[in-house]
Amino acid sequence: MSLNKIPLAGVIGSPIAHSKSPQLHKHWLKTYEMQGFYIPMDIPSADLREVLLTLPKMGFVGVNITIPHKEAVLEIADLITDRATLIGAANTLIFRKDGKIHADNTDGYGFLENLKTGAPQWVPQAGPAVVLGAGGAARAVVASLLDAGVPEILISNRTRVRADKLAADFGQRLKVVDWVQAGNVLEEAVLTVNTTSLGMIGKPELRVPLDGLRKGTVVTDLVYAPLQTNFLREAAAQGCVTVDGLGMLLHQAVPAFERWFGQRPVVDSATRAAALR
Ligand code: NAP
Repeated sequence: MSLNKIPLAGVIGSPIAHSKSPQLHKHWLKTYEMQGFYIPMDIPSADLREVLLTLPKMGFVGVNITIPHKEAVLEIADLITDRATLIGAANTLIFRKDGKIHADNTDGYGFLENLKTGAPQWVPQAGPAVVLGAGGAARAVVASLLDAGVPEILISNRTRVRADKLAADFGQRLKVVDWVQAGNVLEEAVLTVNTTSLGMIGKPELRVPLDGLRKGTVVTDLVYAPLQTNFLREAAAQGCVTVDGLGMLLHQAVPAFERWFGQRPVVDSATRAAALR
């Protein structure tokens, strides 16, 4: 990038109006007194390739990718990190100076950093994790938990074949549990994660019975709208340590901001407030 060129970044999805990423990156640009812009872009699937090939020519240094394009960008990128390949989706693109598009997935990093901050007492090796859901986000969560050294992951999803596929892709530390049985394995968990979209504003509630959760179990939800889901509220009432999903969103943005703008940002209470504004 030439010295007088202001770096541009953004987020591509459809719809995109709900995204909190623009407020977040704008906050960091202002905090670190940096030049740059971060723009939300509502792009239909049919235009994705053309847009991604054009943005670098306009001064973009990279973009975040969200629903429904996280899988499709892997077909367009020139270089894909091992973890994005394993997860089967990317959320961060870097437009390199040599013209190549580099795809990465930082969701798992964001998930783990959020847990480390929100539940520092959680020791990955201490026991099994229960993961509810087997969609794209679940794949990132499972990859990060395996990396962190979790000995066993019990995974349960409404559509069983999706969980079976995930277990086949990620190996022997995964065990699939029928969706109707999910409540029965919660007592084994030292960590329980909701990666489904259930409990989100406008979606049905998560109906898995939670009375099996043991006191002190760490419980986290990927849903962050609302911030306090019924799942987290019920778990807290049973003496569990709860961590909301907003921190994952904030932490997954850290490596991207650093790569694009050259400064590693800090996630603190001001960052949370900016994202909630
Ligand atoms: P996805 O690939 O569409 O997966 C959705 C998951 O929810 C699947 O497991 C799906 O089960 C399950 N589900 C949906 N409706 C259901 C219902 N009525 N009953 C039972 N299960 C149901 O979506 P995703 O990308 O994994 O995202 C999942 C959630 O994580 C979303 O709420 C998203 O906003 C959130 N998320 C948060 C962050 C963060 O930074 N906090 C990051 C990524 C994602 P089936 O397979 O049976 O359909």
